[in-house]
Amino acid sequence: MGASGRKRNGFSPGPLPPSMGAAATDAPCIFCEIAARRSPAYVVYEDATTMAFLDLFPFTRGHLLVIPKRHGARLTDLPFDDQTALVRTLDEMCRRSERLTADYNVALNAGAAAGQIVFHVHFHVIPRYGEANPFHPRTRARLEEEEARAVVRELAAG
Ligand code: AMP
Ligand code: ZN
Repeated sequence: MGASGRKRNGFSPGPLPPSMGAAATDAPCIFCEIAARRSPAYVVYEDATTMAFLDLFPFTRGHLLVIPKRHGARLTDLPFDDQTALVRTLDEMCRRSERLTADYNVALNAGAAAGQIVFHVHFHVIPRYGEANPFHPRTRARLEEEEARAVVRELAAG
């Protein structure tokens, strides 16, 4: 689905590069590529079955995505053991997010109508610093290298 057809509800962002809405193409799944280390990401956590990395178009500083390495579009597509591992990693990432600020949102968008644009299940952990409404549709700036490295330093240590 192209940017123009993307629903503006859930945690769907404002305009993003068309390459990010690649669900309807034959392109490999970008999160599978990151999990396999074939595509770059600012990784803050990895174990045998899960990974967490910075969202490339963060709503707020430290916006993280937590994924299973196994591909599934939705949580309910995953075997129970992978779901369990994913939630354990989510818990760890919530704890680390508190290094940045005490408050955060956790979100999971399931399906296009819910705002899902990457069809590999992921939780968002979105630190909150008192913004009125960071989810209001708007253009999000791409993550800057220097900022990303600073956040990774704060969150990557166990
Ligand atoms: P969702 O709307 O729940 O599918 O969110 C997908 C998220 O993935 C968006 O917040 C994007 O900014 C983010 N995203 C897309 N491609 C990448 C990437 N290569 N690295 C990091 N985050 C990404
Ligand atoms: Zn995938």
